[in-house]
Amino acid sequence: MEEQQHDLVVIGSGPGGYVAAIRAAQLGLDVACIEKVPELGGTCLRVGCIPSKALLEASERYHEAKTSFKKIGIKVQGVELDLQGMLRHKDRTVKGLTAGVAYLFDKNKVRRYQGHGRIEGPGTVIVDGDERARIRARHIVIATGSEVAGLPGVEMDGDRIGGSTEALSYPEVPGHLVVIGAGYIGLELGSVWRRLGSKVTVLEYLDRILPGMDLETAKLAQKTFKKQGLKFELGARVTGARVEGDSEENKHCIVEVDGKDPIACDRVLLAVGRRPYTDDLGLESVGIELDGRGRIPVDGHFRAADGVFAIGDVIAGPMLAHKAEDEGIACVEGIACGYGHVNYEAIPGVVYTHPEIASVGKTEEQLKEAGTEYRKGKFPFAANGRAKALGQTEGQVKILADAATDRVLGVHVIGPRAGDLIAEVTVAIEFGASSEDIARSSHAHPTLAEVVKEAALAVDGRAIHN
Ligand code: FAD
Ligand code: AMP
Repeated sequence: MEEQQHDLVVIGSGPGGYVAAIRAAQLGLDVACIEKVPELGGTCLRVGCIPSKALLEASERYHEAKTSFKKIGIKVQGVELDLQGMLRHKDRTVKGLTAGVAYLFDKNKVRRYQGHGRIEGPGTVIVDGDERARIRARHIVIATGSEVAGLPGVEMDGDRIGGSTEALSYPEVPGHLVVIGAGYIGLELGSVWRRLGSKVTVLEYLDRILPGMDLETAKLAQKTFKKQGLKFELGARVTGARVEGDSEENKHCIVEVDGKDPIACDRVLLAVGRRPYTDDLGLESVGIELDGRGRIPVDGHFRAADGVFAIGDVIAGPMLAHKAEDEGIACVEGIACGYGHVNYEAIPGVVYTHPEIASVGKTEEQLKEAGTEYRKGKFPFAANGRAKALGQTEGQVKILADAATDRVLGVHVIGPRAGDLIAEVTVAIEFGASSEDIARSSHAHPTLAEVVKEAALAVDGRAIHN
């Protein structure tokens, strides 16, 4: 077996791993990255953020062309879905970006190994696959990410009953799609297939959608999704799902729900969360024990054991690509320079439905539970000139500010381009800004961002246009 030596080896090339590798190389370390599949970029680029957004954008355009162009004076005829073409657009988008990571590795002289990485002991990782090597490195960064969580009784056959990866590539538009779980993945992919013509039923165990998000915003979202034709069954605990039928023609799925009639459908998307992925990683060789939820415990510097670090979905915190990237940078800056930091109070979360939903900081429920006195400013997109011009007036911006200091504590947006609007308030929270700071900053007219400014003015009861 080939013996190799590097300063730092990263296991996994998702947004956590590849960003950590590039940053470490920028800081002058000799870096290797081990990835078991041929393409670089991890869940996010291959089967997560990027392909789902490609389908969300394309399906929304199709839906708009069919339903809302006429409202703005455009007549279109013969609009047709070319599903294979849409799937090709998604695949091209993914290919371009995964190739882009390979280019960045070359540019930064990150040595890529293709194979499964397993820690053999302190300072040693074995690569097992197309390449076989024993790598010695002072620092090991684990960035092995996560995989779809299963549900007892749900028999995933990797086709009719599958997770998000299958739902990114259905070969035909399902007549009836049942989505289990009303988190962001279920709602995004449920929206894609609804727009393309499926009947979509979302089964959710809790009495609300988007658990963890601001409740008022989640309720507004549910109303909007209902208008779009998504059918919700809340308080529905799924206890099983199976494929029935012996030929392609009569194959269908049966979903069992506690205390209710079983539901027959064409396909099932299981979206009840993701679990950290640490299979065959050799953690025991360096004395790492997983926590009760299968995550690698780390200290404030992402250290899991002497010389071993972990970042991204495989550790605690929101399973988001930008959180993994920020941790990757902080982790290797800590290794190379002695200091690295992630502000977990200022990590935005976005649901890329239509309209988008975006949040940063505390929810009203969290502030109430902590007994924090706060003031609230809200402003609707319906009173914004740009939103009217776009013909997209649904939604609002809500800003929550500390009652005593006016510091911005949380912002919750549902509306057009909410995912882009959240950047401004994320910076505000990062800088410890007050709602007055936002209200007194000039916002270009006519932009959607003016809704943020008006919501900031509304914290003090002085919104102008409402
Ligand atoms: P991953 O991206 O999971 O990468 C881990 C990599 O490690 C994989 O490539 C895997 O093959 C490799 N690996 C694992 N074990 C080994 C081993 N032993 N040896 C070698 N290689 C190994 N997040 C967002 O922020 N925005 C979104 O819009 C968004 N949309 C999503 C949509 C879907 C459908 C899904 C499933 C996820 C989405 N996410 C989104 C979440 C996001 O993809 C993850 O949070 C992110 O990919 C985590 O990055 P990571 O680097 O920790 O791990
Ligand atoms: P997330 O963790 O954000 O991906 O969301 C997963 C969703 O699935 C949560 O809202 C869970 O409440 C929901 N969920 C988990 N188990 C079940 C179940 N057995 N039946 C229906 N919904 C479930």
